[in-house]
Amino acid sequence: MSDADPVLTLSDLEPWSFAGTALAVLGQPIKHSISPAMHNAALARLAVGHQRFATWKYFRFEVPPTDLPRALRLLHRNQFRGINLTVPHKVLAVDGLAAIDPAARAAGAVNTLLWTPNGWHGFNTDGYGLATAAKEDLGRELAGSDVLLLGAGGAARGAAVECLARGCASLTILNRTDETLNALLALLVPLAGKIPLRGICGSNAPLTVVPAKAIVINATSAGLRENDPVPVDLHRLTDVAGVYDMIYNPPRTPLLRAAADLGIAHANGLSMLIHQGAKSLAIWTNTEVPVETMRSAARDALRR
Ligand code: NDP
Repeated sequence: MSDADPVLTLSDLEPWSFAGTALAVLGQPIKHSISPAMHNAALARLAVGHQRFATWKYFRFEVPPTDLPRALRLLHRNQFRGINLTVPHKVLAVDGLAAIDPAARAAGAVNTLLWTPNGWHGFNTDGYGLATAAKEDLGRELAGSDVLLLGAGGAARGAAVECLARGCASLTILNRTDETLNALLALLVPLAGKIPLRGICGSNAPLTVVPAKAIVINATSAGLRENDPVPVDLHRLTDVAGVYDMIYNPPRTPLLRAAADLGIAHANGLSMLIHQGAKSLAIWTNTEVPVETMRSAARDALRR
């Protein structure tokens, strides 16, 4: 973290005296977020062509879940133009919005808020980020692909809704425990229409229902730590078309190492982070966003 991006708290909002246009990310913990570096680099680049962006700045706030409603009130009163939400706020923030984008409503989670006079307008750009990343890194469209999605938490929700909305050929969700899996399947059934939707519970369950040539998307947190288990044994699947791991730090998880050993196309979640961020910034600025600037800033921030 650079000194230019200190970790702020709610006490910094009363009083708030920043004269420019403010953006922010809220989360807990937030100190490892690379979003401030990525967005502030993009704003500096935008300011070269559009003077109005010279006074825009993206801040970070450490906000515990119990303080989220108060934080959103204070940020709205102080006319923050836009907010990103990360763990643990994406689902909690849905209640209390003035408006919500249909895709975010379907996912039951928001990661982007836009200031409006009546309150916050919520969006979810994670699904867009994933779809763009899968195409960029694996050369695969979610549309028409068989997808094996690992995990049933917040990130999996957005991914599953995006797969169905884009018309995947089939969606199979594998999760460690059945409670979150069943809750997600119940949410998805009305969206699936004729798309085959299946759930598999437990790491030892048979995987015979997974079609050959599926794309595997890891939306579990297994892989964040060095000794985590692989969320699926790739040897048990037939002709995997590609593996996308939403985790980007560490950059090579056990799942990605297994994919590399088997010669399967694979990528980590950095491109998803970049593209969800680019979409958020486009919502706030209403202008074309310098994605490559965001990519190099994100890579630099991760190296620090
Ligand atoms: P949640 O806590 O909501 O969900 C975690 C999921 O991981 C659950 O399905 C949980 O299963 C599963 N899980 C946890 N530990 C294990 C394990 N040891 N073995 C198998 N499954 C496990 O987290 P999120 O959905 O918010 O985030 C998931 C991951 O996605 C994180 O690593 C996050 O960093 C990443 N992410 C990346 C983004 C990007 O832009 N690249 C954007 C958003 C998230 P169970 O239900 O059984 O507990």
